[in-house]
Amino acid sequence: QHTINKIAAGEVVERPASVVKELVENAIDAGASAITVEIKEGGISFIRITDNGIGIPKKDIQTAFVRHSTSKIKSIEDLMTVSSLGFRGEALASIAAVSQIEVITKTYDDLTGIRYVIEGGQEMSMEEIGCPEGTTIIIKNLFYNTPARKKFLKKPATEGAHISEFVNKLALGHMGISFKFIYNNAIKLHTSGNNVLKDCILNVYDKEIVKNIMPFAVEGHDFDIHGFIGKPQLCRANRTYETYYINGRYVKSKLMMRAIEDGYKTKLTVHKYPFVVLHMQINPDLIDVNVHPNKMEIRFHNEMEIYEVIKNGIHQHLRQVDL
Ligand code: ADP
Ligand code: MG
Repeated sequence: QHTINKIAAGEVVERPASVVKELVENAIDAGASAITVEIKEGGISFIRITDNGIGIPKKDIQTAFVRHSTSKIKSIEDLMTVSSLGFRGEALASIAAVSQIEVITKTYDDLTGIRYVIEGGQEMSMEEIGCPEGTTIIIKNLFYNTPARKKFLKKPATEGAHISEFVNKLALGHMGISFKFIYNNAIKLHTSGNNVLKDCILNVYDKEIVKNIMPFAVEGHDFDIHGFIGKPQLCRANRTYETYYINGRYVKSKLMMRAIEDGYKTKLTVHKYPFVVLHMQINPDLIDVNVHPNKMEIRFHNEMEIYEVIKNGIHQHLRQVDL
């Protein structure tokens, strides 16, 4: 059983950023309105995620760490229609197999909280403690018992940059949640969670990058897109500042990138990659989602329409603002 867990962990847990991804998604699923991510040494030696969500009931804590146990949805088809992010029920089991975990959690109904410690998949202790409602999970020494995998980790700075980038994307995708990111004891990000996208963008990016960003909105038959776009002069040499969400989920959509970039192309821009943060809402019947543990592919049924609407929207917009 332990070996199976360790092997399977490789699919879910590739690096510290994948641990953060799974744990923050759990916090979001738990209805948290505030989530703090704290890491040290690029997340390799220390990750702490704190949320103010519903907590894990005392009676469920052990099963939460059993593979394929999930309190959430049952089928991949449901994925784009329900709000739940997790669905395989293997994140906690996988992470626990290759690290040292401490969970402190309390639900509204339980009178006391629980502190649960599990190392390399082995339960170490479980005790009652006083704590606020919500969940704190501390992950120490990722891959301490799988040296071969540990060898494949990049330098802490690189692993940390991945996490930072990921938390930024999450914050921009969930404007209603206050995110805090603490790296080596310094606060790197703190969003207000006031549900205003522009405020969130200003929290995430340096002033210089987002000065003069403009609201953008277009509509198609069964979808609409809104967000903020930068002036053509702010275009870059790479896609660092292109961020897309579909039904609240961060995606890398080739179609959206192409439509946006083609929309900017007619302008005399030095670089072709603009600043954009765009949210698309679309009828889930019009997309196919292919989910792997670490990536997601999306196919649209109405590709041409989406392409045209976005590209034309950008054209019109740039024509107006540059007069
Ligand atoms: P999944 O998210 O796919 O259900 P996980 O292994 O990520 O599987 O989590 C297992 C279970 O543990 C979840 O279904 C949920 O009930 C519980 N859980 C995990 N993290 C939290 C959290 N931060 N708050 C409340 N419940 C949680
Ligand atoms: Mg999960």
